[in-house]
Order: sequence, then structure tokens, then C-alpha cells
Amino acid sequence: MNELEVRTHTALHVVKGAVVKVLGEKAKWTASVYVSENHGRLTVKFDRKPTQEEIAEIERMANEKVRENVPIHVYELPREDAERRFGEDMYDLFPIPSEIKTLKVVVIEGWNVNACNKQHTKTTGEIGKIKIKKVRFRKSKELLEISFDIL
Ligand SMILES: [Zn+2]
Repeated sequence: MNELEVRTHTALHVVKGAVVKVLGEKAKWTASVYVSENHGRLTVKFDRKPTQEEIAEIERMANEKVRENVPIHVYELPREDAERRFGEDMYDLFPIPSEIKTLKVVVIEGWNVNACNKQHTKTTGEIGKIKIKKVRFRKSKELLEISFDIL
């Protein structure tokens, strides 16, 4: 990942936090993510297409978190300790192989917790403005894709 992609990747965590705040716990399982330059896409399990208002609110809340410029903490700890401390909320839809015994957990306090071994910015402010470009709901798979750019 180049420096720009580190920002785009970090934005995934911020957007995900906003998605769960707006759409609720049902949207908490990430199915996949994609990053290329300033383009990002977050795909979560969900059971319906969100309204325009909900999408606008996700974008607004994500940008508010950027403006707050809060720290992004990364904890490296034994998997058992991480599970005790953060529970299933740190996991994505597809499990981390059981032979992996040490996890890096990315925490944006009160916003997003995710076992992720990629590189991140130190604060949310470094991400820059987040613009949601496209939302697609794939009904047959119950997958919601949120594509965004960082500006
Ligand atoms: Zn990450």
C-alpha cells in the first residue's frame, strides 16, 4: 500500500463505524474490502437497500469522525486476550485461521474495533474528506457495497 492507500484503507474503518451507527448491528459483518489509490469499497452483510437519507447520514458521520481527528490505536496481543477484551465485534465475516495466535486490533474508540494487520494513519484527520460515490445492494447475496473516494 502506498501512502494514499493507507489513508483509503483507514477510511474503511471510519466508514464501517458510521455504517453500524446508522444501519445498526445487523450491518456489523464485513464481507470484503477493496482499496485502489483513493478509491475504497466496503461490503457488509445486510438485508435491504439503505435509503438516500441513511447513506447521506453515513457520509456525514464518517466525515464528522475525520474532523474530530481522533487517534487510531493498534494493539498487538495474544488472540485469547483480544477475544476476551473485544469479543466477536473485532472479527469480519470470514474467520481468521485458527493457527494465527497473535492479532493486531485496530481501535477507533467508541467507533470501530477490527482485527486488521494492514497499515493505518495515526489519526482520523489524516484521511481527508470521504465522499460516498455509489451504493449497491445485492439482494440475492444480501450484500451491501459502499464505494467511496477520499479527496
Ligand atoms: Zn485496517
